[in-house]
Amino acid sequence: MAWFRNLNKLSPSKPPLRSTNPHPFLPSTTPFTFLLSHFSSQPISDASASAEALSRPPGLGPTASGEKPRVVVLGSGWAGCRLMKGLDTSIYDVACVSPRNHMVFTPLLASTCVGTLEFRSVAEPIGRIQPSISREPGSYFFLANCTSVNTDEHSVQCETVTDGSNTLEPWRFKLSYDKLIIALGSQPLTFGIHGVKEHAIFLREVYHAQEIRRKLLLNLMLSDVPGISVEEKRRLLHCVVVGGGPTGVEFSGELSDFIIKDVTQRYSHVKDYIQVTLIEANEILSSFDDRLRHYATKQLTKSGVQLVRGIVKDVKPQSIILNDGSEVPYGLLVWSTGVGPSPFVNSLEVPKSPGGRIGIDEWLRVPAVEDVFAIGDCSGFLESTGKQVLPALAQVAERQGKYLAALLNKIGKEGGGRAGSGKNLELGDPFVYKHLGSMATIGRYKALVDLRQSKVRSKGDIHGRVPQLVRLAFGLSNTCHKLEEPILRGGELGNNFHLWTRYKQNIELDVSTQHLASSYYCHRSELFFKTNLLLINLCVDLK
Ligand SMILES: Cc1cc2nc3c(=O)[nH]c(=O)nc-3n(C[C@H](O)[C@H](O)[C@H](O)COP(=O)(O)OP(=O)(O)OC[C@H]3O[C@@H](n4cnc5c(N)ncnc54)[C@H](O)[C@@H]3O)c2cc1C
Repeated sequence: MAWFRNLNKLSPSKPPLRSTNPHPFLPSTTPFTFLLSHFSSQPISDASASAEALSRPPGLGPTASGEKPRVVVLGSGWAGCRLMKGLDTSIYDVACVSPRNHMVFTPLLASTCVGTLEFRSVAEPIGRIQPSISREPGSYFFLANCTSVNTDEHSVQCETVTDGSNTLEPWRFKLSYDKLIIALGSQPLTFGIHGVKEHAIFLREVYHAQEIRRKLLLNLMLSDVPGISVEEKRRLLHCVVVGGGPTGVEFSGELSDFIIKDVTQRYSHVKDYIQVTLIEANEILSSFDDRLRHYATKQLTKSGVQLVRGIVKDVKPQSIILNDGSEVPYGLLVWSTGVGPSPFVNSLEVPKSPGGRIGIDEWLRVPAVEDVFAIGDCSGFLESTGKQVLPALAQVAERQGKYLAALLNKIGKEGGGRAGSGKNLELGDPFVYKHLGSMATIGRYKALVDLRQSKVRSKGDIHGRVPQLVRLAFGLSNTCHKLEEPILRGGELGNNFHLWTRYKQNIELDVSTQHLASSYYCHRSELFFKTNLLLINLCVDLK
């Protein structure tokens, strides 16, 4: 998995370095000319190349008439990847810009922190989602951050993500687009609380999960070494989770499972010192139905998770201070208090939706500017559409990506793919979001399913043990029955779980196409269960 190891080193946890040299990677004109001719769509004569090259950053210029129009996708998350997967590459070239070369299957990320799943099982290389990016001469993936958008010029400025000054200084380049898709996601909210960024770990990327696992295991080992005081042992083994939304609750459930199953067996000397505390300012799982919330509270408490109502005021290296003045020592602090727009999204001068996301219309266009679309967590319906801003969910991002791919394909087929040429085309049906329900696992083979807004509303909300929920999952749609056999077979066979690796490749579950081909493995019944619900939530179009 060289592609993934490489990325661990490049994980962009620190802000990108700024280079004073505009072309730090290009010491002489010869390689620069090569780079330009490689990237530019316009032919460059040898004589004019060097002078011109030094006066502007390298990149991809506007597409010429004989070339395919270029779709530039900013971001490689749920929205961007689903869009790229659906894009017709016989019509368009694709250029994706993202600081990570893979997509993260976030719903299963918490499971990787304690080793239930391996990291590679929740990450999928972009080249496998859209193979053209690795094969087609005009399609690319660029490991970079987008730093600005020039909508008048139809171009974006980007800066590479590198290992830093020890190896390479980052450098800038420019990309011209025919259509621009902004799918930049969101970023964790810290509410300006001092010390969060320095001392807490977020749970959004694979490198966050790696850091959590590393710290957890390190603390378990250190707490067993002679010479450590009881007080310090308790601190090291105190895992504090801040934020009682689905992510915080699921992570707490995973941790308590880990303690019950693994710590008691593999670290039995210290098992009585380890504790999980979940801190929430209001009620946990506030978006779920009342009864489900109570059920979750009861089950988490039963699993040994300590629920604390409080607001964090300050985060110190080894403890947090709550609003009532109490100090809570910790060895591991995970921060999961919701998400909001990134500074880059804030900096874009386009009309915003309530909540500060990029304002879009019903066709996911950014109406203030031509040929620009925004999807996923970074976007929200403008107030003028009369529609509510959709929740920051993979369910939403995935469907928006799918919808927009189909829309762009239609535009391209009707001759509107090139910059400025799609103005008068009839766009067809607007995007409509159908919520299929929410789910949160809470450990000990238990989970909650809230179906209040879904099509299967009559079933209401459900909680309980995995087998019943699995039966329900299978009952939700006829198509789901088709999953039963491969999953059961896989469950017997494997000790690993490759849902995500296979998802974009082999599992295509769609009621309309009735197509399903899968072979994947899962080794624990939670995963078996979760797989089904995820597939229902994320893959199945209940029509
Ligand atoms: C732990 C966890 C569990 C979750 N569980 C669920 C669940 O069970 N169900 C559900 O529906 N939702 C779930 N979510 C929410 C879901 O993951 C998000 O709603 C979804 O990822 C949003 O997709 P997106 O494409 O908009 O953004 P993301 O998936 O966050 O992708 C954003 C992309 O933009 C890139 N990017 C950022 N800045 C730049 C820049 N300047 N230039 C270029 N690229 C940039 C990022 O690297 C990333 O590739 C979960 C989230 C987390 C963190």
